[in-house]
Amino acid sequence: MFGSLCILCLLFSGENKAWADSWPEKTKNWVWPVEGVITDTYGTRGGHHKGIDIAAEIGTPIHSVDSGVVTRSYFSDTYGNVVFIQHDNDTETIYAHLKKRLVFEGDVISAGDTVGEMGNTGDSSGVHLHFEVHANEWTFSKENALDPFLVLNHDEDTLVVSGKMNGTNMDTYEVKSGDTLWSISERYNVSVTELINKNGLRTENIYPYQILKMP
Ligand SMILES: [Zn+2]
Repeated sequence: MFGSLCILCLLFSGENKAWADSWPEKTKNWVWPVEGVITDTYGTRGGHHKGIDIAAEIGTPIHSVDSGVVTRSYFSDTYGNVVFIQHDNDTETIYAHLKKRLVFEGDVISAGDTVGEMGNTGDSSGVHLHFEVHANEWTFSKENALDPFLVLNHDEDTLVVSGKMNGTNMDTYEVKSGDTLWSISERYNVSVTELINKNGLRTENIYPYQILKMP
C-alpha cells in the first residue's frame, strides 16, 4: 500500500470506509498524545503494526486525546505498562510501553489529561509511545484498528510524513538498517548537527524505520 502515489487514496482506502466519512467530525477536537519524532507509522512490519510510534525523552507526559473512561490500566508482556481509554465517540485509544501509569480502570478523564509517562516497557526496543486507535473497541485481533494519522488533526509536518511513504518526497528520510547520522549526512550533503537540530534528537542513535526530517 505504500507504493501508492495517491495520498488521498491512501487515506481513504481500506475496510473502514464508512468510518472515514465521520472521522473529521468525530475526532476534530482530539489532541496529540505527545509531541516527538514519529519513528514508525501504521501498517508497517507486514501490516502487523496497528499504531504509530512517537519518540521523545523518557518520562515525557502522555495525554489522552479526548475525554473518556479508562477501561484498562495494567502491565502486559507486549504492551508493557498500558492504558486503554474508551471515548464517547465510539473509539478506544491505547497508550503503550509507558514508564508509569497515572490513571486506573474506571477513572473519568478529560481531553489532554496526563495518563502516564513515556517509557520503554514490554516488547519495546527504545523509549517511545506506541499509540493505537480502534473504532468501537480494541479486540485481540485488532480488526477495528484505524490509522491514527487519519483521526488526529494533521499539521503540515504530519502530512509530509504521510507523503514520504510513497518514497517520492525527500523532505523526510526513513532510516534503513545500518544507517548512521554520519552516513546519511555524507550521502545527502547535510551536516550531522543540522539533522540533530531539525529532528530535536537528544542522542546520535537512530534506528530502522525512524522518520527523519531532512534539513
Ligand atoms: Zn508501535
